[in-house]
Amino acid sequence: MRSEQDKKLDFDDVLIRPKRSYLSSRKQVKLTRKYTFMHSKKIWEHIPIIASNMDGVGTKKVAKSLSENELFTCLVKNYEKDDFNDFNVNPDYFAISTGIGKADLKRLEASLKAHPHIEFICIDVANGYSEAFGDFVEGVRQNYPKKTIIAGNVVTADMTQELILRGADIVKVGIGPGSVCTTRIQTGVGYPQLSAIIECADAAHGLGAHIIADGGCVNPGDVSKAFGAGADFVMLGGMFAGHDEGGGDIIAETYATHRVDNDTKEPIYETKKFVEFYGMSSDTAMDKHHGGVADYRSSEGRTVRIPYRGPVDDTVKNILGGLRSTCTYVGAKRLKELSKCTTFIRVSKQYNDVFEE
Ligand code: 5GP
Repeated sequence: MRSEQDKKLDFDDVLIRPKRSYLSSRKQVKLTRKYTFMHSKKIWEHIPIIASNMDGVGTKKVAKSLSENELFTCLVKNYEKDDFNDFNVNPDYFAISTGIGKADLKRLEASLKAHPHIEFICIDVANGYSEAFGDFVEGVRQNYPKKTIIAGNVVTADMTQELILRGADIVKVGIGPGSVCTTRIQTGVGYPQLSAIIECADAAHGLGAHIIADGGCVNPGDVSKAFGAGADFVMLGGMFAGHDEGGGDIIAETYATHRVDNDTKEPIYETKKFVEFYGMSSDTAMDKHHGGVADYRSSEGRTVRIPYRGPVDDTVKNILGGLRSTCTYVGAKRLKELSKCTTFIRVSKQYNDVFEE
């Protein structure tokens, strides 16, 4: 057994120190970034925020809406080739996702054959440390030299570099930080997300590749911290869940408040709307996509009800507004400069919650 002594950091262990700035307005901040991907050589210049390939998040409708703001979507794995027949989103804004099973490969090949304009492939497994996963990435790279390959998830520099050398252009970073993830509880495995981003970004950039910070962002400030830590892209699940475009059923619940009507003295009722959201390794997802949880494994995700949030566009605007504001606080004219302008300070409290319910 070995135990590493330096303390690893999460988003809520830090804040970003403000710095003198010549920017007078958030409007002056440029949020697009220009990347040339290492293997595919594709040049991409848009806003590097990604909707996760989770049910209720990585849908075609979310992709359409996000693309209108120049954001990217990793689509859910279960779309078949024919699902893309009526999907006319610019290929710069979406990836098709796949696992590493035989059926996954067949589906991937069929989709790419029917729709050769698709440019991004997201090879996604919960544990990116297996040899089989590296072999799969290598095989896809050989067969599709010009496609841009996203592969994950890992949390350490060594495996980030291994996946890049095996053909990934972009490595997805995060084990256990997700809003509906129970991996850390079920297995004790994980890595605080801010440190994982810092270490994996450094490893990838040294080779000329890129990373996605995947999971753990609960507010726009966390998105800024992820970029400040060196992430090239930030992927969001929970923050993009609960919207119209996600396609989940809206559950309305009426309940009595503590207030009473002045005239009738009857309790005042309110209706709240919710949407079900679940991890892709949860019982709910297993039942839906794999006919139940296999005997030899346990569920590593939970199912929750989250408030219904209307159109995703409002959430996008809120996140981009926060990110622009962070840039003005630290004097970054472009998102590209944010990590150079970031000094994290260690804190023991994030914000004042005195009036929170
Ligand atoms: P969030 O933005 O909601 O905090 O995190 C989203 C990420 O959590 C996803 O992109 C994916 O990497 C991860 N994730 C999604 N479902 C599950 C799950 O069931 N279990 C685990 N361990 N991670 C999940």
